[in-house]
Amino acid sequence: RPLTSNDLIEEHRICVCVRARPLNKKEISVKDLDVITIPSKDVVMVHEPKQKVDLTRYLENQTFRFDYAFDENSTNEMVYRFTAQPLVETIFERGMATCFAYGQTGSGKTHTMGGDFSGKNQDCSKGIYALSARDVFLMLKKPVYKKLDLQVFATFFEIYSGKVFDLLNHKAKLRVLEDGKQQVQVVGLQEREVKCTEDVLKLIEMGNSCRTSGQTSANAHSSRSHAVFQIILRRRGKMHGKFSLIDLAGNERGADTSSADRQTRLEGAEINKSLLALKIATVSPGMASCENTLNTLRYANSMNEL
Ligand code: ADP
Ligand code: MG
Repeated sequence: RPLTSNDLIEEHRICVCVRARPLNKKEISVKDLDVITIPSKDVVMVHEPKQKVDLTRYLENQTFRFDYAFDENSTNEMVYRFTAQPLVETIFERGMATCFAYGQTGSGKTHTMGGDFSGKNQDCSKGIYALSARDVFLMLKKPVYKKLDLQVFATFFEIYSGKVFDLLNHKAKLRVLEDGKQQVQVVGLQEREVKCTEDVLKLIEMGNSCRTSGQTSANAHSSRSHAVFQIILRRRGKMHGKFSLIDLAGNERGADTSSADRQTRLEGAEINKSLLALKIATVSPGMASCENTLNTLRYANSMNEL
């Protein structure tokens, strides 16, 4: 049975799904092996290579259960349907919803959330940001919501080293304050009104190019920063609902500290602290990533015990 927003609201619990991407060309070229199998729609198995004292090799199988597991043949649309889509309704019902992508750098967070920014033909139309926006505009056409006369706004910002930068305003550095109601406010964050999905795609493209501009490597930067894309519904100027879609920093920082300098280690500690909150997860299939994959699954899995 597909999850509905009622499941999420009434059970007051977090839904955790895991997506495994296919092996990429580079992994295939170095003959990396796929250590992940998804035997059923909610189980992820990792086959970890081990060695006995007598040096015989064997695979240790570890099993994790989640709300939903997506294998390498899954599409963004499928992932969307079981994760973010039920939350679109939540914001029309005056709720606040959040969807996080958590995982190792290179495991597919940005591909899932933002769309494909890797090649020359950048396409953000199939990412969860865009698919959510598409459904927001579809919902607006329903008579019950049409009569509310709602306006739609989008924001896009980045959190890097504990500082907030506006991706829709030339990376302006913003202050974060807690108001009297313990609500966190990002002061001066640009809220752009959007009238259709096309408007949203333009903002995602603009924000993404702003995010990576001036960086020697897009991945080196995005692996250390969180990107937050929000869709806000307003009625007569007042907030009606808000959907936050978050492409988190890579979760591998803690583990690979041996080669890192002090600055990188401090950043890693900061990132891990901020990642301890919530997960949704993506995993790389390669044997070379096995340790990171197991870490991701263990953390993500612990969310189910809350
Ligand atoms: P992350 O944001 O977690 O660092 P990316 O989303 O940038 O990782 O993905 C790394 C690379 O793998 C990109 O080239 C991306 O296009 C590709 N990729 C990720 N997930 C998939 C997938 N499910 N199918 C095909 N390619 C993928
Ligand atoms: Mg990324």
